[in-house]
Amino acid sequence: MKKNLTVLGSTGSIGTQTLDVAGRLGLCVTALTAGSNFKLMESQARRFQPKIAAMADETAAKELRVRLRDTDVKVLSGEDGIIEAAKLETDTVVSAIVGISGLRPTMAAIEEGGRRIALANKETLVCAGHLFTEAVRENRCELIPVDSEHSAIFQSLMSGKHGEIKRILLTASGGPFRKTPAEELKNVKKENALKHPNWSMGAKITIDSATMMNKGLEIIEAMHLFSVPAEKIEVVVHPESILHSAVEFCDNAVIAQLGTPDMRIPIQLSLTYPDRADNPESELDLFKIGSLTFERPDTEKFKCLAIAESVAGRCDAAPAVMNAANEAAVALFLRDKIGFTDIPELVSEAVDALGALTARSIEEVLRRDIETREFISKRI
Ligand code: NAD
Ligand code: MG
Repeated sequence: MKKNLTVLGSTGSIGTQTLDVAGRLGLCVTALTAGSNFKLMESQARRFQPKIAAMADETAAKELRVRLRDTDVKVLSGEDGIIEAAKLETDTVVSAIVGISGLRPTMAAIEEGGRRIALANKETLVCAGHLFTEAVRENRCELIPVDSEHSAIFQSLMSGKHGEIKRILLTASGGPFRKTPAEELKNVKKENALKHPNWSMGAKITIDSATMMNKGLEIIEAMHLFSVPAEKIEVVVHPESILHSAVEFCDNAVIAQLGTPDMRIPIQLSLTYPDRADNPESELDLFKIGSLTFERPDTEKFKCLAIAESVAGRCDAAPAVMNAANEAAVALFLRDKIGFTDIPELVSEAVDALGALTARSIEEVLRRDIETREFISKRI
């Protein structure tokens, strides 16, 4: 097992669960980074004694520096501080910052070369897929998925060769509005959208699950991780979230991975692979679950999924524009500035207006991101 670990986004849902697993496995922590939660960062830094703790927020970093002055932990701030933390020599970097803010730090970690990137941050792969996977190859890094569906696909793919893949069956819980009539969606409130039936996650991905944009992002994530075209990826709604995705091979054998919906299972595998380690928690009890059900997704009702399917194969800025518009729209929805069904409306307008621009470098991807956010703020 690789011993040293850096966690980008350590105070978030994935970050805290990663440290939980790291503690259990006895791993050493090289560096931790976060946005602004200096209290949680202080306790993480005291427990794991990283060389660097970096906060995006300057004021939070100042506070953390005071709180950690009796320790050897070096406190850095801003994006530059996070990038410095990401570059520090280590074995595995867990990329768990939410959204495009994770792009530069994750690329910096990759460019150091020869390390494992355990990827939770799907937005970076959506926005810069080809550039990202090329950098992974060129710098001889290893990319291991953390996202539960992609971890399931990664494990299922071990049963056959790439040329033998017929389809990927990407499962989706359907979110809290699976049974809500389409005409009622425009009135749903933030409080209802934040109640995910099976998973406890950060606010942004929870809203993405409610709009099903999360599954759209995951189609594009799967394309880049596994070099499979969008046409070979089929979304299957599976409300119990027990079967985490599957691969159908040319002989019609379907190989799936099942488990309790607990992110610590795929997180742990991303750290221990190619080995597995014991897990004292969340054993699957199929007798308790009783039955597993499957449905087709409703792309008329969940327009974000349809938008993502339509941009998935594009090599221009469309995926990056879609992601930026979605990040901006979700933030507005969380601040009660727009309604739930305004999210797909705004995303679709942005893709139509800016999607055909180019996105040939990381700098260009980041420029499109800013332009899209400006476009959205002018529309409100
Ligand atoms: P979260 O909001 O709980 O945590 C995000 C982390 O990023 C926090 O540590 C936060 O401080 C940090 N952060 C936020 N903005 C930042 C900025 N501008 N600069 C630097 N750091 C910043 O999010 P999460 O639910 O843990 O999700 C993280 C990523 O993992 C997302 O891309 C999400 O799609 C993906 N993911 C999450 C889950 C899950 O169960 N939570 C499952 C699969 C994939
Ligand atoms: Mg997922």
